[in-house]
Amino acid sequence: MTSENTVKTLLILGASGDLTGRLLLPGLARLVAATRAGDLKLVGAGSDDWTAAQWAKRVHDSFSAAATSADARGKAALAAMEKDTSYHGLDVTAEGALAGLIGGLEAPVAVYFALPPHVSQKACEILDPAQLPPGTRLVLEKPFGSGTVSARELNRTLAGLVPEDHIHRVDHFLGKATVLNILGLRFANRFLEPVWNREHIEKVEIIFDEDLALEGRARYYDGAGALRDMIQSHLLHIMALLAIDAPATIGERDLRDAISTVLRASSITAPYKKSTRRARYGAGSIGGREVPDYTAEEGVDPSRNTETLAEVQVGIDTWRWKGVPFILRSGKALGVKRKEAVVTFRPVPHLPDGFQGVDAPNQLRIGFGPDTLKLDVDVNGPGDIFSLDRATLLAELNASELLPYGEVLEGVISGDPLLSVRGDTAEQCWRIVEPVLAAWARDSVPLEKYDAGSTGPADWPTAVGG
Ligand code: NDP
Repeated sequence: MTSENTVKTLLILGASGDLTGRLLLPGLARLVAATRAGDLKLVGAGSDDWTAAQWAKRVHDSFSAAATSADARGKAALAAMEKDTSYHGLDVTAEGALAGLIGGLEAPVAVYFALPPHVSQKACEILDPAQLPPGTRLVLEKPFGSGTVSARELNRTLAGLVPEDHIHRVDHFLGKATVLNILGLRFANRFLEPVWNREHIEKVEIIFDEDLALEGRARYYDGAGALRDMIQSHLLHIMALLAIDAPATIGERDLRDAISTVLRASSITAPYKKSTRRARYGAGSIGGREVPDYTAEEGVDPSRNTETLAEVQVGIDTWRWKGVPFILRSGKALGVKRKEAVVTFRPVPHLPDGFQGVDAPNQLRIGFGPDTLKLDVDVNGPGDIFSLDRATLLAELNASELLPYGEVLEGVISGDPLLSVRGDTAEQCWRIVEPVLAAWARDSVPLEKYDAGSTGPADWPTAVGG
């Protein structure tokens, strides 16, 4: 995979941060252990006055799990990266500091901004394109801006520095394997396409319910909430993958064009009391663990009315989808983990007289992490063959040997922005949710309450068993 585009140095800014330690370095380790990172060099940087030994220890600790299961070549590749890594203390918002560091590294360099969003923005604003070596890639984390206007401004800043296909806006939620599993399912099977439209599909639900509560992340989450954190970015992308027309190729241009086309046609319409719902968890217990009321969590400002569970109904105005509700839901501190897309088909036009039992609509369930596929079909029941019964066909889809962040980094290193969010799409995602955020800020939609460990409000369309 080596070409002149292949990144030679990965520079992680925010080396002492949570993302770097918990997700980036372990993801990189699996990629290196699979000998899929070439002769990449790792450089850490941050405002902390760390010694080289402190950074080396952080890298070593984060690599240890991957090293244990790696083969001899993988172990050697990990050891080589550990031996060669360096740390640089700097303030990335100080004039010339970051450009100076990048200029001294072996090019092409991928600059990973694992920094607070406002710090990343400031750092980019003061970079001078003339100081960036050819091939430089900029890797930005979510949230990308805080609304359409700020996302557009950030896009403009980045476009002044490097070409669009050298900008990686990370959405690690869907690893490459999951994206390709959805595309393979949809476009390598002839039987699905003729029914994949408003004539045959009644609704599509995309649900990501977690049993994790706030887990000490109030600083970020209390200013974001479930709609911004999950629906605005990740779930809208899954929706787009489920709704796109077949692209000619699965190259980044065709696929990202198709995703953008769907999102441009998508909106959440008023009245928002009907098309959206929000709720916040109260005290409860999850798997024997006591969880305090959200407002009692450290760092939470109750007056913000931050929702920990959100549900929105998106419409896609195209011939294929007009009138089909796409219901996106995500929440924290729920008693049942649900991570799936559920496609519900319309009922048959006429069930032949003589059958008994319930003729329930077919449902196709695509599970995320582990990736699974379930198809609920009606079959003739055991014993009484005139009575209908339900059967579920189940398949476990192939998993990737990499962690999602390993897949993200592989795209960055090899110069493939397939998994990155394109600039126009990042703006569209904000455009879709902004009217809802405004309606919620006006308190037009009540903030409901659910107990931690429960399944959430029972009267929502996506309620368990609903
Ligand atoms: P942290 O606050 O844990 O880490 C931020 C890092 O940035 C620290 O190492 C900090 O160093 C460094 N930093 C801050 N200001 C400067 C500066 N002026 N110059 C150089 N370094 C600086 O944040 P996270 O790791 O949690 O998040 C980083 C990004 O990743 C954010 O955009 C976040 O939204 C995103 N993200 C995080 C996830 C997570 O699970 N943590 C998940 C998905 C996305 P110091 O401590 O010395 O100030």
